[in-house]
Order: sequence, then C-alpha cells, then structure tokens
Amino acid sequence: MSLAQPEKELSVFESMAARFDVAARKLNLDDGVTRYLRTSNREILVHFPVIMDNGKLEVFDGYRVQHSIARGPCKGGLRYSPHVTLDEIRGLAAEMTWKCAVVNIPFGGAKGGVVCDPSKLSMGELERITRRYTAEILDYIGPERDVPAPDMNTNEQTMAWIMDTYSMNVRHTVTASVTGKPLDLGGSAGRREATGRGCMIAADQALKRFGWRPEATRVIVQGLGNVGSQAARLMHESGYKIIGVGDITGGVFNTSGINIPRLLDYVGQYKTLEGYEGGDNIGAQEILEQDCEVLLPAATESVITSKNAHKVKAHLLVEGANSPTTPPADDILFERGVFVIPDILANAGGVTVSYFEWVQDRQGYFWSEATINDRLKQIMVSAFDGVVSFSEKHKVNNRIAAYMLAIDRVAITLKLRGIYA
Ligand code: NAD
Repeated sequence: MSLAQPEKELSVFESMAARFDVAARKLNLDDGVTRYLRTSNREILVHFPVIMDNGKLEVFDGYRVQHSIARGPCKGGLRYSPHVTLDEIRGLAAEMTWKCAVVNIPFGGAKGGVVCDPSKLSMGELERITRRYTAEILDYIGPERDVPAPDMNTNEQTMAWIMDTYSMNVRHTVTASVTGKPLDLGGSAGRREATGRGCMIAADQALKRFGWRPEATRVIVQGLGNVGSQAARLMHESGYKIIGVGDITGGVFNTSGINIPRLLDYVGQYKTLEGYEGGDNIGAQEILEQDCEVLLPAATESVITSKNAHKVKAHLLVEGANSPTTPPADDILFERGVFVIPDILANAGGVTVSYFEWVQDRQGYFWSEATINDRLKQIMVSAFDGVVSFSEKHKVNNRIAAYMLAIDRVAITLKLRGIYA
C-alpha cells in the first residue's frame, strides 16, 4: 500500500510562519527577536548508505532540524515517509518549540525525518536505516541536547534501536536519549496513550464550557495510528459516541455509534478498514464532512483546507495531528464559529508524557500510571485554560492565542539569557 498525500495549499513551514507572524505582530515582538524565532537554530541533512536485504546498497536522505534551545534541550519526533521534506520538518520543529512552551515544559523544539517508504521495507532494513541515521546525527542528540520520539511510521521499536545505537557509541546505557521507548527499556507508563488522552482531556474541557455531555456528543476520528486509535478508544470508554473513523484505507460511518474495541481489533488483525461490517463505507476525506459535534483529525497535515473547511459540520475541532488545518481554512472555521483546539495544545499530551519519561529516566525512579495520568491532566487543563483566557483577553482565535502564549514564554527566556556573542 502506498501512502497517499493530500494536496497542500501551504507547506507546513508556510502555515507555521503565517501563524507565527500574526502572533508576533500582536505581541509587538522586537523585529530581531521575530527573525530569530522564525528561523531554525540548526538544520542537519544527511545522506547515508544502507545494505538492503537483496545485498544492494541504497542511499537514504535524513533530516534533523533543531528549532530552539532557549528553554531547554530540543524535543521532537522522527517520521519515516516517502514524502517527507526539509520544509515540512522545519515547520514541525518550530511547532514543537511552541507546543512545549504552551504546556510549559522545559524543552525547545526539533523534528526529524527519513525519506523512505516503511510499507516496502523489512524489519531488518528499517533497523539498519534507523541505526545508521542515528549514527549520522549522533553528535547532535542526547538527553541534554535533543531527544527524539516516535511520529508517523516510527514506534517504540524504532526508539529502542536509537537508544541502543546512541548507548553503544557513548559506551554506557542512556535511556533518556529518546522517549516513547518500550516499558522494559525505561519507557513510561501511559506514554502510548498520552497523545490520545491529551486530546480527550482537551475535548472534555471544551465540553464543560459548552455544557455538553459526552453521551450526547458525536465524534469523528480521522487516523487510527497511535493518536487516533487511543483517542477513539479512550473517548469511547468515557461515553462519547464515535460515529465515524477513517484511515488511509478508507472510512466507516455509523450514526448509531461504532463499537471501537471491535473495530480496533479488526484493524489490528487486517491492517485495513476495508471489509469492516459495523457501518457504512465512506472515503477517508469524506469522513471529515459528516455531521457531528467533534471532529478529531489524527492522521496527517493539511487535510482541512480552503477547499473543504466550509463543509466541516463539527462545532469542535480537536487537532490530534500536527498541522491538519491550513491558515486559509482557519479563517473559514473561525468565521463559522467552530471552536478549534489547535494542534500545539490538543496533541501536547504526547510530549508532556515524553517529558515525564525523560525525568523518570534521569531519576532512575518510575511513577505509577495513575500519577502520570493525573499530572498529565493537570498540565493539559492548565494549558487549555491559559490558551482560552489568552484568546478572550486578546480577542484572537485559540490558535493565535496558543502561538502568542508560547512565543511570549520563549521570548522571556531569550531576554533573560541574553544573546551570547
Ligand atoms: P501513525 O503512523 O501511527 O498513524 C497515522 C494514521 O493516519 C494511520 O491510521 C494512517 O492510515 C492514517 N493516515 C495517514 N495518511 C492519511 C490520509 N491521507 N488520509 C487518511 N488517513 C491517513 O501516526 P501517529 O503517531 O498516530 O501520528 C498521527 C499524527 O499525529 C501526525 O500528524 C503526528 O505528527 C501527530 N502527533 C503524533 C504524536 C504521537 O505521540 N504519536 C504526538 C503529537 C502529534
């Protein structure tokens, strides 16, 4: 199966920069600081060789972009995709800086990518790609420098290989070198569910504001990977009515509600939604336009654009994915009164529990899942309240409010640190 890409009206970096510019102007940010924060601190491009299963040598392109170290070490995911570009990684790295600042954890932002199609690679090939990519960027990563985590098409196993490669090179085991690791290797309880749980906590806060009950709230989820499947499962367990789900293979729609555990078992077994009988078949894009209260895009970027934003019927948009909405679509949704919980807030649960994992690894002392979920909730609720009050105070939409809150926090640390010359 090849991974289809939605058409982009603005690149991920252009989308980030458009929002950054609006927020920086509203904050009256100094011109020099604006230029500095709009630019990545470091961009690493590597071309590296890997011997494939057929004995032939292939060369892969890899990126690691470190946007800011103003508030602490860089933090950000690593994605594998045939479509990944430097521009996309650059935009996502900057968004990680803003995301960490929104939830007020002591990290700057980074992102990595390797241009490859995992659906066509064996486990052995994926392992060799991961290890060689890690070796290529070794001098720039580590617990105090830059801490990778899983993202699209990478997972706990990928993180285990990175951690092992890093550790072998520095000659001792450094579990804090990555997050999103398996539990047996210093991973954190609750990390697997964290991004989806954070989305649900943010949705719960919005429901409280609207006076809605989960039982009367219909939800559509696009994407059934780590974020979407956990969000759908947890929301289903909390009483939300999930009426639609979609992934790269299609969609399922059922106004009576979908049996999420059964559907996830089916997807786990067959790796596709095709043939699932608990609802009507529907296209993966069409699913976004169905009548519901909550839409949770948790697949990929730029799925809501100026072409379909006016067709979105949800009242609440919870952005599980990074950059699922383009800036022209933002304006349409705002005019139509859709309450948007922007990506840098909605999906920040992942990086928050990654932060907990990093803290636990460095302490060598592990917390219970209940403690983690409790601390995650405190952070998400406080970030949600912070963004919404910023939006009310400055009369801007939630996305610009989140950017303003984040940029302000990073600018304060820059001011305190001064510019090293
Ligand atoms: P994943 O690779 O585990 O799953 C991606 C899912 O999206 C799959 O179900 C896939 O079929 C579906 N998909 C991909 N392209 C699609 C398309 N064009 N149309 C419909 N469905 C499509 O990825 P993930 O880790 O769940 O990440 C999903 C999104 O959430 C990404 O934008 C990622 O950057 C973001 N995110 C992930 C985390 C995390 O902790 N994993 C944290 C924050 C943000």
